[in-house]
Amino acid sequence: MIWNEEIETMDRGALVALQSERLSKLAAYVYERVPHYKQAFDEAGVSPAEIKSVDDVTKLPFTTKEQMRDSYPFKMFAVPMDQVIRTHASSGTTGKPTVVGYTRNDIDMWAECVARCFGMSGAKPGDIFQNAYGYGLFTGGLGMHYGAELMGLNTIPVSGGNTARQMLLLQDFQTNLMACTPSYALTLADALNGDGVDPADLPVRSFILGAEPWTEVMREEIEAKLHAHAVNIYGLSEILGPGVSNECIEAKDGMHLMEDHFLCEIIDPETGEPVAEGEVGELVITTLTKEAIPLIRYRTKDLCSINTEKCVCGRTHARMSRVLGRADDMLIIRGVNVFPSQIEATMLGMEELSPHYKLILTRKDRLDALEIQPEVSEDFFREVDGLDGLKNSPKAKALTQEITKMMRESLLVGATVTLIPPGSAPRSEGGKIKRLEDQRS
Ligand SMILES: [Zn+2]
Repeated sequence: MIWNEEIETMDRGALVALQSERLSKLAAYVYERVPHYKQAFDEAGVSPAEIKSVDDVTKLPFTTKEQMRDSYPFKMFAVPMDQVIRTHASSGTTGKPTVVGYTRNDIDMWAECVARCFGMSGAKPGDIFQNAYGYGLFTGGLGMHYGAELMGLNTIPVSGGNTARQMLLLQDFQTNLMACTPSYALTLADALNGDGVDPADLPVRSFILGAEPWTEVMREEIEAKLHAHAVNIYGLSEILGPGVSNECIEAKDGMHLMEDHFLCEIIDPETGEPVAEGEVGELVITTLTKEAIPLIRYRTKDLCSINTEKCVCGRTHARMSRVLGRADDMLIIRGVNVFPSQIEATMLGMEELSPHYKLILTRKDRLDALEIQPEVSEDFFREVDGLDGLKNSPKAKALTQEITKMMRESLLVGATVTLIPPGSAPRSEGGKIKRLEDQRS
């Protein structure tokens, strides 16, 4: 079902007009109430009166996570503390957490966004919803909870973990929808099978999955194992929590953004300039209606693209692609932005390859050159008779050519491809995998 037919299927012209009106009000609101923004607007030489339409958004300064951290705990709040009815915080990997507050209107707006997500995920009032997102300072649990109650779902606040209990409730409470992380959905599938429960016999129709990056290959696996839809939900605590965007089950092709509340841009993370529609870049969000912590052009560091074509489900709000990586990981090769995650996605699922690879960047005649070294699978290595065959056999040459062609099409920049034997690409050792060798300097 479409939860809010009037807004979600709104004519795009009217939607943009609504965004413009809200942006103009927001600029005056933050300038007046948040010292950080008064200073940032003044430094950028922009006055709130100049902000009349969405096209003026690029005149405004960006907001970064570092600035939010520097405002710890409440310096970015735009309302007196007695109007704040909830505070969440994201766990910082280093130092102090990022704190976000919500007024009553903010909580209502959040619930409205999440109710729309439930509609997109195939829910209807009266369904039973098992919420396996964590409850606490993390926005996941309570964020989903209020949206579910708003829609009229029977909401089970089981929180994360405890697989035995999750399985018991799935069967005994006859759960229709469940929210958790994609990796936990797979854990659950294996546990059900291990217990002799066939997920096909359960009435669960949709798994709403988020809070970590995942892929189309994982979706296929989850849907096949759990006999249910697996849809992607996106959000971040600085902006709202879950509910910034969600896939519809009709298309499963990008997540509908709640554009009446969030003005979204895709920028080149290096230059800060907008990229052409459909191109991958960093997602930047301006909260159009938040009262407690409104944010102007927040740099999410999440890399994705946005598509404004009308969707088969009837919704008109733009769709963002899966998050393809983090802006910090971007490489610039001969002026083209390249993301390791694009390289990974291109090779994913090729049975001749292992999931591991190495990248080498060099500079020849002042031109950057990228070498991709995919690791072949044990089977392929045996088929070509080892190292020599990997270099010289027709089979290996054909595979090299195929990957080179695929990379050119997906990266829009040429790269050389060299197959390497199993076990020779870097592996994770508990932390970040160092796949890139930059030999340019
Ligand atoms: Zn749709």
